[in-house]
Amino acid sequence: MNFTGKLALVTGASRGIGRGVAQMLAAQGAKIAVHYVRDADGAQATLASLTGDGHTTIQADIADSVQVKRMVMESAARLGGLDILVNNAGIYTEHPILDTDYAEWQRQWDAIINTNLIGAANAIFCAVPHLIQRGGGAVVNVSSRGAFRGEALSPAYGASKAGMNSMGQSLAVALAPQNIHIITVAPGWVETDMAAEHLASAGGDAIRNQSPFGRVATVDDVAYAVCFAASDGAKFMTGAVLDVNGASYLRT
Ligand code: NAD
Repeated sequence: MNFTGKLALVTGASRGIGRGVAQMLAAQGAKIAVHYVRDADGAQATLASLTGDGHTTIQADIADSVQVKRMVMESAARLGGLDILVNNAGIYTEHPILDTDYAEWQRQWDAIINTNLIGAANAIFCAVPHLIQRGGGAVVNVSSRGAFRGEALSPAYGASKAGMNSMGQSLAVALAPQNIHIITVAPGWVETDMAAEHLASAGGDAIRNQSPFGRVATVDDVAYAVCFAASDGAKFMTGAVLDVNGASYLRT
């Protein structure tokens, strides 16, 4: 994979998978807009860790359509265009149906769908004209195994990721004539802050043993799949949903 001269916006890159993706893309020559929402120090730490120069940081709340538009415009202006969008930002919060009141149920569905699904859709909408200007490009969406396996404690999260999978399929068809490919990466558990509490709990071993490898994914396991999906060589895989779950959930 060679990303020399490629210009990439990675959302949620102040830590976790987003940081790993930014680092891997930069190591292969890409210039990166490191997006964050609140953790400016984390974004600066990501920036400082990137190979090469010309990278930038950009702040925006992905759940706010006005801020998403500004995020994409400013990223493209500072990088000099846009070839790759990685929709990685996301939230997971629990709202089990039998233990959640109706007001909280509303609040969580709104927040999760707005962030994980509509935020990503808006980022794609705003990025597409920039990708077209460069003769085409790539969108990679970070989804989840939960879209297929179910999320008993966070049904809105599962639904947001299933929506993301479907959106990627639809837009792959719509945007291929513009030489834009869209691939969705669906990890199982990954050792990041988002999963830390669960992995450290009494149920941690059971989670690790969901995979016959006896472990969860590393950030690099997922970042590698995202970078591969963003590469020109993956163009004809457009519309695909790639599992990165260590055979913890096999679907046909
Ligand atoms: P993380 O919590 O470290 O990263 C999520 C990032 O999204 C953070 O940088 C956060 O600031 C950003 N974000 C959240 N809400 C935002 C908002 N409103 N506006 C802008 N940015 C916002 O977790 P991670 O594990 O690195 O997750 C990255 C992606 O991978 C997420 O989409 C997540 O759903 C997905 N994923 C994670 C796991 C896992 O086990 N960790 C498994 C499957 C999928």
